[in-house]
Amino acid sequence: MLLKNKVGIILGVANADSIAWGCATHAHQEGAKIILSYLDNRIKPRIEPLAQTIHADVRELDVTSEKSVKDFFEYVKVEYGKVDFIIHSIAFANKEELRGKYVNTSRDGFTLALQISAFSLVEIARYAAEVMITGGSITTMSYMGSEKVVESYNVMGVAKAALEASVRYLAKDLGPQNIRVNAISAGPINTLAARGIGGFSKVLHIVKDKAPLRRNITIDDVGKTACFLASDYSSGITGEVIHVDAGFNIIGV
Ligand code: NAD
Repeated sequence: MLLKNKVGIILGVANADSIAWGCATHAHQEGAKIILSYLDNRIKPRIEPLAQTIHADVRELDVTSEKSVKDFFEYVKVEYGKVDFIIHSIAFANKEELRGKYVNTSRDGFTLALQISAFSLVEIARYAAEVMITGGSITTMSYMGSEKVVESYNVMGVAKAALEASVRYLAKDLGPQNIRVNAISAGPINTLAARGIGGFSKVLHIVKDKAPLRRNITIDDVGKTACFLASDYSSGITGEVIHVDAGFNIIGV
């Protein structure tokens, strides 16, 4: 029970395919009390039955609104007093930005993708620090498109580069409060968000063929690493990007 007596917030469950759901089920198995977020009332009816299976609390959170972030953390503060870990598994870009050429990225599309996929971690970390009164762990989800060019990933690759740089700056700022900040760079997984990326199924096949482990990863692979990062077993790790990608990123020619 890696997370016994710990309270954790897991942001970004859209359905049972979500990476955040893989994190939530494993965190529950490891003994954590979990608070899940849902984006809006359209998603709420899908999340509530899932949440019940792991006895999780659920609360609305839209990271495009600071008021929504503030209200979410106000609720957590009143109901739980303190939080031990946060898993941030949120990203968004308009579909038209995730095909064709990056050079055609629109001003609004760039701003929206960076706001939801990178800035949200900064704001959440700021509010989280107020409720992580005995220290804590913040983990976010990235992808190799931050380091290398991946066809159609476009503005999301740039957002992930900003996200990974934010991890390092946040780790430096929050380290003195014993708050650790890390990212998991996950291999491709067939989720709602991933299906919006042009040519995504081709990427799944390439990774399966070329990765050292000769398979695609699952939300369970990510969930287990997320639990390790949320737990005291990773107490000396901060500011890192850990690849959970069946080893694909180490392959050159
Ligand atoms: P998903 O669609 O299941 O999850 C994305 C989540 O982001 C959804 O729950 C959605 O509601 C939430 N979200 C979007 N806009 C939001 C907003 N304004 N406020 C609050 N929440 C908002 O897809 P996923 O693949 O599980 O994505 C989770 C994270 O993992 C993302 O950061 C994604 O970039 C990252 N990731 C995914 C893959 C992959 O191949 N699936 C690989 C590496 C990293």
